[in-house]
Amino acid sequence: MQASSLSAVAPCAPNAAVRRWTVDEVLALYDMPLMDLVFRAQQVHREHFDANAIQRSTLLSVKTGGCSEDCSYCSQSARYDTDLERERLMPLDEVVAAARAAKDKGASRFCMGAAWRGPKDNDLDKVLAMVREVKALGMQTCVTLGMLKEGQAEKLKEAGLDYYNHNLDTDKDFYGQVIKSHTHDDRLDTLDQVRDAGINVCSGGIIGMGESRRNRAALIVQLANLPTPPESVPINNLVPIPGTPLADRPRLDPFEFVRTIAAARIAMPASWVRLSAGRQEMSDELQALCFLAGANSMFYGDHLLTTGNPEVDRDDALFARLGLKAV
Ligand code: SF4
Repeated sequence: MQASSLSAVAPCAPNAAVRRWTVDEVLALYDMPLMDLVFRAQQVHREHFDANAIQRSTLLSVKTGGCSEDCSYCSQSARYDTDLERERLMPLDEVVAAARAAKDKGASRFCMGAAWRGPKDNDLDKVLAMVREVKALGMQTCVTLGMLKEGQAEKLKEAGLDYYNHNLDTDKDFYGQVIKSHTHDDRLDTLDQVRDAGINVCSGGIIGMGESRRNRAALIVQLANLPTPPESVPINNLVPIPGTPLADRPRLDPFEFVRTIAAARIAMPASWVRLSAGRQEMSDELQALCFLAGANSMFYGDHLLTTGNPEVDRDDALFARLGLKAV
């Protein structure tokens, strides 16, 4: 598992003009002078979206820690000693109360995450009830539950699920260096099942894990060249967690993060590109540069799954200072 009301389903722009990208083409974007790259990304952005509108999702961890998988960046893997307190699947009423509070604070989408390799059928039944109740509040629903077995995506669709998050995480060639307990193809298989069930796909990655720029470009190509690009693309900046194998990874140059946002915007012009993990460590000025480079979605609330997120008041102030509106 890794880590989206509007009265109707999301104003997700149609991914109309789908084209095939090559890694060299995306690398050429990365190699542009930053001002030229950001300018081009902003032009593409304005052809598809209101440049001053940002979609806000709130993310709740409904089952925390104790995961069997070995994702090297993750505080929730049972294989690493991260001081994380494990929690069982939350009761339905607590989830609904959290969703109601998020809606009152201005979130349009409520994402529920569970740290599993994949849901067992009896656990899935409980998540289905959560999806139904959150949907009934008039919010968009999203879940991230790990890998799905045949038939599970259809059940989620029937319950009213709008988005399923399942990140590709990183380039296929680098993947084995950070995750060994399941494969890149396993992730693609779940994305296929979600798409076939008629659920919107939320899939992105994490940068700053030690991958090369070519790996970052390849990840964007793998997402953009899916039969239909994901409607939502979270771009995470690694938050090194003590106790995980990536605890000592040096921080990525922030401008490389901006370049990744811009390249994702250009390669997936109609997708919502989300500033995700790592935003708390960013200055307001860097976030503004990311919005200029085409990011138009973010997590909103005091916490992501287990890492911090800029507090709501700081976000509201940033929106006011930049003249942004929440959608
Ligand atoms: S599958 Fe999800 S919860 Fe489990 S270790 Fe990997 S990222 Fe963490």
